[in-house]
This record gives sequence, C-alpha cells and structure tokens, in this order.
Amino acid sequence: MLHVDPTSDPLRAAPAAAQRPRGGPGPTTRLWRPKRVVILKAARGTPVAERAARVGAEMGAEVVEAGGDRLLGLRGDTERETYRRAKSTLAVVKAPPSALRLQPIPPSADFRLDLATGCPAHCQYCYLAGSLTGPPVTRAHANLPDLVAAADAHAGQGRITSASEARAHEGTTYEASCYTDPLALEHLTGGLAHLIEAFAARPGMGLRFTTKYDHVDDLLGLDHGGRTRMRASVNAEVVARRWEGGTAPVAARLSALGRMAGAGYPVGLTIAPIMPVEGWEDAYADLIRAAAAALPDGADLTVELITHRFTPGSREVLTGWYPATTLEMDETVRVAKRNKFGGVKYVYPKETMRAMRAHLEALCARHLPSARLLYWT
Ligand code: SF4
Repeated sequence: MLHVDPTSDPLRAAPAAAQRPRGGPGPTTRLWRPKRVVILKAARGTPVAERAARVGAEMGAEVVEAGGDRLLGLRGDTERETYRRAKSTLAVVKAPPSALRLQPIPPSADFRLDLATGCPAHCQYCYLAGSLTGPPVTRAHANLPDLVAAADAHAGQGRITSASEARAHEGTTYEASCYTDPLALEHLTGGLAHLIEAFAARPGMGLRFTTKYDHVDDLLGLDHGGRTRMRASVNAEVVARRWEGGTAPVAARLSALGRMAGAGYPVGLTIAPIMPVEGWEDAYADLIRAAAAALPDGADLTVELITHRFTPGSREVLTGWYPATTLEMDETVRVAKRNKFGGVKYVYPKETMRAMRAHLEALCARHLPSARLLYWT
C-alpha cells in the first residue's frame, strides 16, 4: 500500500506562485458560469476556494464567504426557482469523512473518488437524480490532499477492475465522475489537475473520469504519467441535442478527447445513455464514425456502452425538474430489474437490448478496431 506524505503533495510543496490549482478558463465551446460561488467556512483559505472565488468573480459571479458550514438560501418559492438557484450555485466545501471512505463502483472502477457532488448541466435523464437528495447544487471538495490520502489508503484493496483479468494491469482504479462531471468545474476548482498530477507519481493506481465538457487546455501539458484515462461521455446527436442542456456539443467533446489522446493520455468513449430513438442505427453509426475521425492513430482507447434506465425515484425527480420533457420514462414499455436490496430499475426489453448491443458492438469493431470494449450494460 502507498502512503502519502503531505509535504510531498504538489499543492503544499510548490512555491506560492506555482501552486495548483492554477490557470483559468481557456478557449472552449462551453464553460459553466455560476451566478453564485459560496465558500463554506471549513473550505476557506484552500487553493480550491481561492481559485473558485477568483475565477468566479472574473466570470461575474457573486462570491459569498459563508459564516458556517451549512449551505443556506437555495430554496426558492417554487420547485423551478429552487432548481434554477441550485444549478447556478457552486459551493466549495470540505469533503465529509464519508467521502473519504471510498466505495466500490462496478463496473467502472474499484473505488469512487468524489471531487464534487452535483453537476451544473441539465441532462433530462441525469443519473444523479434520485441519488443525491435536496436541491441540485454543486459542492466542490476543497480538501484535495485528503482525497489523495484516501486513494492511497485504499490502494491494493480493489475488488472490481483489480479482480478482472482484462483490467488488473490498470492497478487500483478510482472513478472521479460518479457524482459530478469534474471537467465542468475544472476552470473554477483545478481539482482534476491536482489529482492527475498526484496519480502520475502512483504507478499502482489509475484515475478515470468522464465528461460532457471540452475545456481540456489546462490538462494537456500536465505530467500525467499515463495514469489518468479521460473518457468523453457522448451520444447520438439527436439525443444530445434534445436532452443534454448546458453541455458542450458532441463534436467538441470528441475534439477535446482527440487532443487529450494527442497529449499521451489514455482515452475512452462512454456512450450513454443509449436509446432506441427513431433512426438510432444511423445516428449511432454517425457518432462512432465521428469518434474514429477525431482520434489520432494508435490512441489507447476503451469503450463503455450503457443503455438508458430509470428508477421510480429518478423519474419522479426528473419530471419535477423537467415537467415538459419528451424523454420516454414509461414503465409499461420497459422491463423491471430488481437488485438484491429490493430496488427496481426499468431497462429496455431483451429484444431491443440485443439489437442495440449487436449494432453498437459491430460499429465499434468496424470503425474503432483497436478499442477495448469494457462493458455493455
Ligand atoms: S453531465 Fe452527467 S452529471 Fe451532469 S447533468 Fe448531465 S448526466 Fe447529470
């Protein structure tokens, strides 16, 4: 097991002028501009808080230093108003002890490593709905050295990818995108850069993140040691246009992925959530051809294929947030799948699943022949 020496952490050890998080927004197609940045008391004075305050102010946000550690003032008079306020607020908080006891996250990684909880985008199928409670605010974690120390403390104990013959070579794996889109916040927090550099020096460990954003410029020049895999979370154009508000266009995400591959990062495609919308065969063929065109030859590429599903809880939250949604969440045309705890999720019927899987896998084999297919779900 590796142990972290706090004095060896680049955030602490570097001279002030060179401290991470550094930089700010570069040229991109979509940058989140929060209306409010709230620094909670326990996060004050950290590089993340200072950067969020500085970049937030430059972007026109109201910056508030809270007197305590409770986030107040998110509730509006209506559910719509609460949604709007929460989605336009970035809170900088200290990750609670529960976030430092890392949980397994099959099939993606051995452990979850949460840089934040919540996401500023407006995807009408968002998998966070029903998982996170309360107004959908984004809470960025400021105690990055604690997150790195937590990763160290769990090294060598993975039971998901570490137990898989095909993926054991990745070392203990950590997924940073379970409860957020970390690139969406990167210009404000610098948290991803911090983890990428920390993992570069940890050969037995691998960091993973997936994103619907494209501002990778601050990541291209980092010393990453090939230990971080960026995946672009992409979908057929028709799905992205209808139901993925506030995200970068799919073409921009693919272009960002191509630039990351060019900078030597291992990369991947998270194709999700796959839906049998009208014309889906051609729509997904177009997507995979576009991905192939965006990536340099010889890229170390993985593919994850995830179909759309919902739970009664997520549907209730999503129809509250997006009452006019046209997204199909009709349990009468789905199949119920129960987990061992009695929870239920609704997936597509077997025939539909089989047809989509055969088509998507054939497209990958044809257009991305060197890609490793990690899973279909
Ligand atoms: S980008 Fe991901 S986490 Fe963010 S709203 Fe969309 S689905 Fe949810």
